[in-house]
Amino acid sequence: MAQEKDTFNYSDERFADLQMLRYRVDGFDELTLKQKTFIYYLQEAALWGRDIIWDQNCEYNLRIRKVLEDAVPLMTSPKWEERLSDGLTDDAFKEEEENRKEFWIYLKRVWFSNGIHHHYGMEKFMPGFSREWFQKIANCPDEIAEIMFNPDLLNKRVNLAEGDDLVASSACNYYKDVTQEEVERFYEKKKELSDKKHPEQVGMNTTLCRKDGELHEEIWTTENKYGKVLKKIVENLKKAREFAEDDKQKEVIDLLVEFYEKGDPRTFDKYSIAWVENTEPLVDFVNGFIECYGDPLGIKCSWESIVNFKDIEATKRTETLSNNAQWFEDHSPVNPEFKKKEVKGVTAKVIKAAILSGDLYPASAIGINLPNNEWIRAEHGSKSVTIGNLTDAYNKAAKGNGMLKEFAFGKEEIDIVEKYGDYTDDLHTDLHECLGHGSGRLLEGVSGDALKNYGSTIEEARADLFALYYLADPKLVELGLLPDMEAYKASYIGQMQNGLLTQLVRIKLGDQIEESHMRNRALIARWCLEQGKKEDVMEFVKRDGKTYVKINDYQRLRELVGELLAEVQRIKSTGDFEAAKNLVENYGVKIDIELHKEILARYEKLNIAPYKGFINPVYEAIKDNMNNIIDVKISYGEGYAEQMLRYSKEYSDL
Ligand code: ZN
Repeated sequence: MAQEKDTFNYSDERFADLQMLRYRVDGFDELTLKQKTFIYYLQEAALWGRDIIWDQNCEYNLRIRKVLEDAVPLMTSPKWEERLSDGLTDDAFKEEEENRKEFWIYLKRVWFSNGIHHHYGMEKFMPGFSREWFQKIANCPDEIAEIMFNPDLLNKRVNLAEGDDLVASSACNYYKDVTQEEVERFYEKKKELSDKKHPEQVGMNTTLCRKDGELHEEIWTTENKYGKVLKKIVENLKKAREFAEDDKQKEVIDLLVEFYEKGDPRTFDKYSIAWVENTEPLVDFVNGFIECYGDPLGIKCSWESIVNFKDIEATKRTETLSNNAQWFEDHSPVNPEFKKKEVKGVTAKVIKAAILSGDLYPASAIGINLPNNEWIRAEHGSKSVTIGNLTDAYNKAAKGNGMLKEFAFGKEEIDIVEKYGDYTDDLHTDLHECLGHGSGRLLEGVSGDALKNYGSTIEEARADLFALYYLADPKLVELGLLPDMEAYKASYIGQMQNGLLTQLVRIKLGDQIEESHMRNRALIARWCLEQGKKEDVMEFVKRDGKTYVKINDYQRLRELVGELLAEVQRIKSTGDFEAAKNLVENYGVKIDIELHKEILARYEKLNIAPYKGFINPVYEAIKDNMNNIIDVKISYGEGYAEQMLRYSKEYSDL
């Protein structure tokens, strides 16, 4: 809630269907020099891998990027205003301007997608400028122009349409001159040779192609494919190793280096186990061939990296909740026989991203749950964390987008949400994750899946209700987690508005609510609205044809939340399938079509970009004359195009 935070520009430029955001790395300056230096080399290792994902996404991507980036200076000079006097007609001038504008949009989209295909939709997007114009002014060979401008060539990065040869019809660059059938046969055979109980991810780090007529794997190691940049990654990992926080973390790095040098997927498994067990250090990182969504057959892994450190403040918050878990359990409005006698809170791990790269840049996930190899997850567990500063950036950026102003009932509501909303959102998540899911118990003989398809909605409702109930409890003020007894109202406004109105923007007109978190939110808000009708606790208000939610009695609303919590816990504890079904079907599923139309129309007017990505901060190592790092500075001023052009210049060697 610090003042200076508000002056930070979380939103940057917007183009096509994309919105660029910035994330803050608060707490970086307070890290030790050793930790900062560790992060510095890890982020160098991260940035050096950027080109791998470009090549993995499509074999022409790097060449297209080069052609486009080489044309950038042509787009800024000479000054076109001056050309007017050179006898350029008005129309020709306008056309030139238009082509230039479209050039920038296209290049920015290509940067965003790490290639010429939409990062989410997978389809090839087309330049808005003309081929003739571009080939006249830029150095663009016919072969490249053909890939860029011919809509029929390489038109889908990952094709999953049944009946097609998925390998041949996908533009991704994991296979060359091989058919889907050949690939499948090839890896089935290889898999037979793996350890049955502990299978490695066969083929995860190779390109399957043809050599002298035979199938051949080009392996991605420091000595083979991608060797030049993998060497740079290894070089920086080795530098980072000296500043690792403990010996186990050094071992993690050693195994990763060995994997990059030798390429054995079994080494990658060893690395993953060491990594998942290394939970002590503040600084942590992912660097490797991780996700397989970019391959239609799910065999090949795309390269990505994120460097991060634990959010001490957020982790303190979750520790406070955890330490008081028993108090919360004892004081909940739930029937005593459904309570846990001994409850253990979970400490949720919140991290801050320090750099994003590869398949996590600029579009990023907001949580990490790795490793992916199933047997390692089963035997050694996984790391599951939320990336707090990315979520924060989304929230902060959303502030200016008009949503709150459009959907909040009035100024009082807007003020409360603006004052407390971000913080109570975080606290809501903590209560939900650390206490909500872990509270309560099943009666003996009741099976965990007694509620069947309604189980997950009831479970999410239970956790949300637990959080909502306690947000309005003076205990949180006493524990120092909330500043006063008004803050919780932000959460109530947000939850009710979302459950009754705004979450509908994510659903297509005519559809019902399917997703269990969304069903839970609708269920809670609609149940409270209906139960509170007589006492006028909360109401729908229509103004100029627009629907708003108005809460009239917050304390009574809290009591209703408590009543519903008690009922939902009873349903869960006793496995009352019929009651679960009634609650969910009556309150959580159906959508009033007129209201839905209204909400969608209001949302469309706000013109919010559906996809978002991040601009990275810049790290600068300050060195003494012996070349030792004596400090690392972080800054946020770099522009999107500036950053992309710098990365291409400084971290490119393929
Ligand atoms: Zn949950």
